[in-house]
Amino acid sequence: MRTFETQIGRFKAVFSICHMLCVLCVFSSSSSLGQGAQSQRAQQFKAAHSWTDPLTVPLVLSGNFGELRGNHFHTGLDMKTQGREGLPVLASTDGVLARVRMSPWGYGNALYLKGPDGITTVYAHLQRFAPDVQSWAVARTYKGRSLGLDATPPASAGLTFQAGDTLGWSGNSGGSGGPHLHFEVRDTPSQHPLNPLQGWVTKSDSRPPSAPTWWLESERGLASVPANGVDTVVVEDEIRVSIEAYDRLGGASNICGIHTLQAVLKDGQGEVQWTHRFELDELNFSVNKDMNAHTLFPVWKRERDQVHRLHRLPGNRLGVYAGAPDGVVALDSGEVATLECTVRDVAGNETFRTLVFKGGASGLRWERVEFEGVAPQVTSSSDALTLSAPQATLSWDEQSFFEPTQVGWRTDSTGLSARVWPEFEAWRGKVDVTWSFPSPEVMWGISGAALPQDAWPTTQWVAVHEVEGQIKHAIPADVQEGAWRMALPGGGAWRMVRDAVAPKVIPYHSGTPLVQGGDAVWFVEDLLSGVDTLTLTIDGRWARLVWDPKRNMATYEASDDQHPSGAPVRVELEVTDAVGNAATWSGTLVWP
Ligand SMILES: [Zn+2]
Repeated sequence: MRTFETQIGRFKAVFSICHMLCVLCVFSSSSSLGQGAQSQRAQQFKAAHSWTDPLTVPLVLSGNFGELRGNHFHTGLDMKTQGREGLPVLASTDGVLARVRMSPWGYGNALYLKGPDGITTVYAHLQRFAPDVQSWAVARTYKGRSLGLDATPPASAGLTFQAGDTLGWSGNSGGSGGPHLHFEVRDTPSQHPLNPLQGWVTKSDSRPPSAPTWWLESERGLASVPANGVDTVVVEDEIRVSIEAYDRLGGASNICGIHTLQAVLKDGQGEVQWTHRFELDELNFSVNKDMNAHTLFPVWKRERDQVHRLHRLPGNRLGVYAGAPDGVVALDSGEVATLECTVRDVAGNETFRTLVFKGGASGLRWERVEFEGVAPQVTSSSDALTLSAPQATLSWDEQSFFEPTQVGWRTDSTGLSARVWPEFEAWRGKVDVTWSFPSPEVMWGISGAALPQDAWPTTQWVAVHEVEGQIKHAIPADVQEGAWRMALPGGGAWRMVRDAVAPKVIPYHSGTPLVQGGDAVWFVEDLLSGVDTLTLTIDGRWARLVWDPKRNMATYEASDDQHPSGAPVRVELEVTDAVGNAATWSGTLVWP
């Protein structure tokens, strides 16, 4: 855990000031974050312009706006496509294509349609674009010889649409976990995503949100308390509180996000001590990963439960709050305070939870989540931080942490595996690590060197982070002055391995990559460092591949029309991994 001693000092210092500010917030919040500037904007837009929902099938949502996802708030609606790809995707407004993206990651094949009145709509994970868009996009990739694309079509491309026109077909491209349409509404000037269920897209929903669990945080660790049934807890420490709250929408069992939450702490006389409130109507991509500070990260990281802190960490830059107290509950023995929490979904369904705190000897079971078996070494504020540990130096940039956080490092006896803390507390960016080589005996073992004067291998090193046997990260490392150097994206267990194995490139059918319809398909795999580049040439000329890392498939689409028909032609596919191991498939193909 982080040092609560340090924090508690800070909490005490600001508590009385915050108390006053937050009482004011109670009054200002209802006007500034009251019902709907965004929904009004949608109604006015629809009164003045055409609007078409982007799919023609009944609207069923597997995800909504503001839901906690990975390391960010979800910024749109995930519309189910009946488990299929290839449903027509319609322009929601009149507009001109402002951005076309093709990528194996993230939004996949995505279109941004700039509509009237400062509204842009976004359609992501498409299988394919409308023919004129597709041919413009493909031509652009050949011009730039790049597999991906992120470009604005010029006016001369004439890519304008009216509401209801077909923009493309739904798919499962990019970081999509199954066929669906990711749909966003954005404010064009800021590119801030807006909540589409605030009047843009209508979805009936009569189910109130669920709020099953309170989470308490003290210097002793974390404790959970059922939010149904338990109404009084005895606490002896200063604590902070979070609540798990999520929503389910009609027609689907998927766990979605809530829309607003308000928490009010009242003392024994009913006086308001602080109010914490947020509303998820508009997000901002530049700070969207501060979701990690909005949620109770240790629980998010382990359980992926939608838990919301009822306070704002100092480094949290999200603009969704009104009233941002430090959220401390600190009671003398016998003192009482009441926390009231109101959770709403965007349809206005409401769930109310109350928890009474009493000062006294706590019987709660507190669980520690950090620093098993090692003493933390440094506590940082928002400054840059360097940790000099045995065998390694770790450097975090300023603003890496959301509040004072302890860090630590420990290698195992071989010197090839290490643990980085914090593992369960959130931080931004990467930590630069200089990790000294272990003992000569260990290095001899790895390198196969015969003599002490043989040089250790300085290439093909990878820092690997695994979770339950699955490689989550494989970060290439440089070697300088007897140490590995790399930037690690997170805490936890890391081990150094050498990746000297080339990628595997296997044609779809034994002997030929040609499949029905004239596409050419290869399976491409690489252990450890991962596929980095793919280069296809047909008769010596560059050709585009569609890379699908989810299925390890690289496809040349016959519709690109870069191949001759009926004549043998030399085809070469070269693949490299992230540390430079290369493999080439080559053959002579005859397209029908
Ligand atoms: Zn989505």
